[in-house]
Amino acid sequence: MRNVIVVGGGAAGMAAAYAAGKNKHRVTLLEKNEKLGKKLYITGKGRCNITNAGDMEDLFAHVVTNSKFLYSAFYGFTNQDMMELLEKYGLRLKVERGSRVFPESDKSSDVIKTLSAALKDAGVTVRLQTEVKDLIIRDGRCAGVLLLNGEKLDADAVILAAGGLSYPATGSTGDGYRMAKVAGHEVTDLHPGLVPFISSESWIGELQGLSLKNVTVTIWDGKKKLYQEMGEMLFTHFGVSGPAILSASSLVGKRLKKGPLMLGIDLKPALNHQQLDERILRDFEASKNRQFKNALDKLYPARLIPVMIRRSGIPEDKKVNEITREERGRLGALTKNFTVELTGLRGFNEAIITQGGVRVKEINPSTMESRLLPGLYMAGEMLDLDAYTGGYNLQIAWSTGWTAGSSI
Ligand SMILES: Cc1cc2nc3c(=O)[nH]c(=O)nc-3n(C[C@H](O)[C@H](O)[C@H](O)COP(=O)(O)OP(=O)(O)OC[C@H]3O[C@@H](n4cnc5c(N)ncnc54)[C@H](O)[C@@H]3O)c2cc1C
Repeated sequence: MRNVIVVGGGAAGMAAAYAAGKNKHRVTLLEKNEKLGKKLYITGKGRCNITNAGDMEDLFAHVVTNSKFLYSAFYGFTNQDMMELLEKYGLRLKVERGSRVFPESDKSSDVIKTLSAALKDAGVTVRLQTEVKDLIIRDGRCAGVLLLNGEKLDADAVILAAGGLSYPATGSTGDGYRMAKVAGHEVTDLHPGLVPFISSESWIGELQGLSLKNVTVTIWDGKKKLYQEMGEMLFTHFGVSGPAILSASSLVGKRLKKGPLMLGIDLKPALNHQQLDERILRDFEASKNRQFKNALDKLYPARLIPVMIRRSGIPEDKKVNEITREERGRLGALTKNFTVELTGLRGFNEAIITQGGVRVKEINPSTMESRLLPGLYMAGEMLDLDAYTGGYNLQIAWSTGWTAGSSI
């Protein structure tokens, strides 16, 4: 039996503490907040998209950074293993569109309650409102932790699972990176990931709150296509957000630092240019004597109409039967490619994950142990790993946490 300390009571820390406890070690889980899983609580809009029930190939395909590093962890503790663990402790699950797994109750608090029961069953001691200040390094090993209150806790192994920098109000304030650096680890550049974009377009605020479903979004760097996705997006007071947009931020965020990119929204992806023109003609014929501004309500959401009118360059009070073929063509082109200049990303306060983290080359992927400091393990978001939305980021936390906890 070893003394194991786990730093951080988030997803990765709870998985690690449970696995180590089940391995009959004496485990203490230290969490600086007044409760466990503060970030877990807000995941999936309060419903917690626990994992993704897709096959292993699908899991790897949705990891953006360092997917190869996750080979042992993902196979060692799979999405099915996580689902079985929660079900074993009484949580009923359901699988939704895109193989996203949620608690049947739609309550993230039920996931936290279940994990707390599992920790109890594994004999883990949980200490809340207990902030770790530093690692204790002795004789070339990680030998424990120093708490903010000055208390020293000895340990045979320390698992750092202190999270990243995103949504710092949940407790992820970068402490893990600082401690890993003290242990000699390199931390790669840190960027907000799965985060809304900022746009400099003067009209963007007019569309705040407008959500578009079933559109195709494409991000262009000049003539080079960087990203394309079909789905739902949202206009905000500063730019664009929503599921189809957030994933793009993880891919093009770094490139955006060099200069603006162009977002093209296809508002009618099911129709080609010809079909769209026929559709516009049909709509116009049905309201021949109306003004242009009053003939668009079947084509676009109401909020979008004033912007479409301005950008089409067609006078709003022009009679529909006087609109020329060329003007109609302009409206069609705008509908198939409604452009929005993207100039930046919002910050860590609104980022679902942190991109970058402790360099994974310095971590043993089969055990999550530091290759630089024996006795130190790391798991979760603080490692240089991240994935798209869909339950994949939590699976990274569960799998790496489990691997660390079960390797001691
Ligand atoms: C709004 C939002 C929604 C999300 N939705 C989903 C989703 O539905 N599905 C999904 O897969 N992913 C989702 N994610 C991402 C997911 O939440 C993270 O990938 C995951 O929580 C990372 O787990 P972690 O344990 O590494 O870090 P965290 O969950 O951040 O846990 C780290 C813990 O360490 C504690 N800590 C930090 N420093 C110290 C210290 N010095 N001493 C003691 N304790 C410390 C913190 O208080 C915190 O509790 C979402 C993220 C956000 C922000």
